[in-house]
Amino acid sequence: MIKIKNISGLYIHVPFCKAKCAYCDFYSIALTSSSPDGLLNSQLEIDAWLDALELEAKLWRNAAGGKLKIKTLYIGGGTPSILSLSAWQRLIKIILSLCDLSNLREASVEANPSSLILNKDLLKFWRENFITRVSLGVQSLNNCELKILGRVHDASMALKALNLIINANFNASADLIFGLPKQDLRSWHNSLKLIINSGVRHISAYQLTLEPHTPLGKIYKDADLPDGYKFYRYAQWLLNHKNFAQYEISNFALKGYECQHNILYWRQENVLALGPAASGYIDGLRYKNPESLASYYKILRENLYFNNILACAENLDLKSRAIECAVLNLRTRDGISKREFILKFGEELFKSIEKILLSLPENLFIINKDRIALSAAGMRVGNAIWAELMDL
Ligand code: SF4
Repeated sequence: MIKIKNISGLYIHVPFCKAKCAYCDFYSIALTSSSPDGLLNSQLEIDAWLDALELEAKLWRNAAGGKLKIKTLYIGGGTPSILSLSAWQRLIKIILSLCDLSNLREASVEANPSSLILNKDLLKFWRENFITRVSLGVQSLNNCELKILGRVHDASMALKALNLIINANFNASADLIFGLPKQDLRSWHNSLKLIINSGVRHISAYQLTLEPHTPLGKIYKDADLPDGYKFYRYAQWLLNHKNFAQYEISNFALKGYECQHNILYWRQENVLALGPAASGYIDGLRYKNPESLASYYKILRENLYFNNILACAENLDLKSRAIECAVLNLRTRDGISKREFILKFGEELFKSIEKILLSLPENLFIINKDRIALSAAGMRVGNAIWAELMDL
């Protein structure tokens, strides 16, 4: 049994999608209704996942000795917007059985344009049930690029879905991917411009990574992709120019609309994670639930859940926690607070990390009395900086 206290956020992984995108490396299974009983099978699968989730929530509630007073909630996936209204009603009940929401500041849901358009009642339901923010997987507003990515929507559906989200008064966020096969700066500019003009308040921009086992990774090699650097640099310039401040390496927001849940990860605060393949962090223990529904069900049904977590988790020692915290903090505009870091990890570890950072080119950092943060140029070469810190 694990004892927990001070959980700041809760993440729930919904492991279902309509179909698998060609580049996707997240754990999710496609719910097809091509067979006569496809819909029925989907419902059975979702019910089984909710049964397991209910059990998992109960175990954590017992471990905490009561409800968790969380500040943020994030329901991701997969495709949470694929769940029916009745599945959502059950999911909300499970969350309420585990959490005290009196301190809740933000509750986000990830959505896909095609399922959201088909399932419009969800927006009303979310509004009535404490959800404040919807993050839409747009990825591109160029139909050829969407086809290459194997997305189940086109550009006009994505814009329509964003419009519905904004009109329903949610804080809207959009995910975009750059560095796609055949993409050029003109098309990237067009996707960014349409997203900015749509009224979203938050944009996440990620570079495409080809995983060799995905359909896209089997067709293309890294050498076939355009250089991501120029797309990233362009996004930094354009978004900043349009008042979307870069508050993290891949995230841009209008003032006051930064994602509070993700900030918890970058501050290395405790986040509990439920659902298959979900990763959580509790006081130095980094755990990950099994990456398949079958194994996830098995450990819950056979009462092996905490044994499994303890056997598979990484228990970080002070030095590893300090390095990880430095890397996570540096991802953000706020960077490392000298005072807070020393309070958590001591002066000696701070000095070792500071020494490495100060040995790197000056233009990569913004340094003041209490903080070390990356400059826009530093954010462009973040990976190289992490590699230096990992050698400590
Ligand atoms: S919708 Fe997201 S999680 Fe689902 S297959 Fe596509 S990229 Fe993966």
